[in-house]
Amino acid sequence: MNAAAQTPVNLNGQRSNVIVSTSPATGRKLGEVPVTPLDALPAIMATARSAQKAWFEAGLAFRLEVLRRWQDSLRRNFDRIVGMVVAEQGRPPFEALSEFFSCIDLFAYYRRTAAHTLAAKRQFVLLAPHHQHWTVRQPYGVALIITPWNFPLILSIAPIAAALVTGNAVIFKPSEYSTQVGELLARTVRESGIPEGVFQIVHGTGEVGAALIAQQPDKICFTGSTATGRKIAATAGERLIPITLELGAKDAAIVLEDADLDRTAHGIVWGSLFNAGQACLSIERIYVARAIAEPLMQRMAAVIEKFINVGAGESPEITMGVLTTEAQLKIVEDQVREALASGARLICGGKVLDGLNGRAYAPTILTDLSPEMRLMREETFGPVLAVVPIDSPEEGVQAANALGYGLTGSVWTRDRARGLALMAQLEVGHASLNDHIITASVPQLAWGGVKNSGYGRSRGAEGLIDMTYAKVYSAERFFALPRELFWYPYPSGKYTLLRRFINVYYATTWRERLAALFGR
Ligand code: NAD
Repeated sequence: MNAAAQTPVNLNGQRSNVIVSTSPATGRKLGEVPVTPLDALPAIMATARSAQKAWFEAGLAFRLEVLRRWQDSLRRNFDRIVGMVVAEQGRPPFEALSEFFSCIDLFAYYRRTAAHTLAAKRQFVLLAPHHQHWTVRQPYGVALIITPWNFPLILSIAPIAAALVTGNAVIFKPSEYSTQVGELLARTVRESGIPEGVFQIVHGTGEVGAALIAQQPDKICFTGSTATGRKIAATAGERLIPITLELGAKDAAIVLEDADLDRTAHGIVWGSLFNAGQACLSIERIYVARAIAEPLMQRMAAVIEKFINVGAGESPEITMGVLTTEAQLKIVEDQVREALASGARLICGGKVLDGLNGRAYAPTILTDLSPEMRLMREETFGPVLAVVPIDSPEEGVQAANALGYGLTGSVWTRDRARGLALMAQLEVGHASLNDHIITASVPQLAWGGVKNSGYGRSRGAEGLIDMTYAKVYSAERFFALPRELFWYPYPSGKYTLLRRFINVYYATTWRERLAALFGR
């Protein structure tokens, strides 16, 4: 390959050696990073591989100490990091801070619980009681972590921390739209004194991500769109690389007639507009008991009117930011335009707002929708609330489950038992009652979806387990017998003995058991 062909593309589809980051809300340049050349990737993989063994062998206590120093470094730099999330994403400061809080809490949680989660588990084995058996969690080796731009802290820090704690080396590729935040994170990892080569950052677009997979990492943790996830899963399947996929969604809230209207309106507006709707788990479909659909929409519109202050910058008054990418804005505009052209009714919003670099979209409530509309089928990833009246809660559950996605879902009712019963029917990774995205960034709880929203889990104890494979040890308890029961030869007496044992041991009644013991 010649040098030009080795240089990956940048954001505009042009061949370039740098990725320039600009504020979506002002167009101001924030910085640039060098794109990692494709021909540097084999050496990056080799470095990670050679550093990983010693990192694992250094032991959990050492790795948790490095994690503690990383946490300290993050905390010391937190104003800078939060400031960069605000600038690079165009997000309200409070939301950036709350994401940061989840990360710090995650470190504390892993430091408290990792030893227990990863401890060897002993198991009595009936077939070989004279042996000891135990299962340990073994790191895969080199973990490749590819992340999106919409939550550049927690979606990067959670899998990186889990991979490092369990003894993997990490190659981290942040989104091409969050390179500056990615760089700040990488700096804090380096400040932790992590051994050389255990953690490396790589910059580039999907082309670089795909080329990294071709380097045969031992584990991939991918967070991003379902379309990209499918491509990565296909390649990983071909290469038999274990993979965790955290993908897109089109989540639903089901509101019953007895719901607390005020709480529901507040909760649903927040669950839909948090991060300007650019959240995999944001509420994009709201199925509401017909009798309260109009009053609920009016209250949601009132909540928007009163509490949503779209803007950019460090002001604490700002409650909603802009759409981070041009492409995302276009998807939102297209879906709303198409729905309106097909008969949808606009309750509020429905347009790009003046100023803010043309990137802010007004919080929008729509109703009179049909399931065929793209707005009701495809991920919107923007500040749009689609309200559909229903005649029974079961109709809501059916509609919620009808799409291929399954990340989160919520039920809003004063009847706890009924709510829990409906939550049990939702085909999702997370179901919640009278709340929606509460479980999103909680370090103690496993995070992930089902169906087209992905598989595997991050965060919680499962997040650590996900970065490891089970390795089973068996060893004689006291001394090795001359021969084991199951070895050669196979005389008929052995067959009869085993047959009798099965019938006696697994008999379900005493009559059967006695017959097996004394019968033929
Ligand atoms: P994306 O799929 O476009 O990109 C995600 C990452 O994958 C980026 O780093 C990108 O460079 C890389 N990439 C792209 N093509 C690749 C390829 N062929 N091989 C390897 N890497 C490749 O997603 P995005 O636009 O950055 O993020 C938004 C999407 O992420 C939404 O669909 C959202 O729902 C989803 N998401 C899911 C979760 C979750 O936890 N389930 C969380 C956040 C975002």
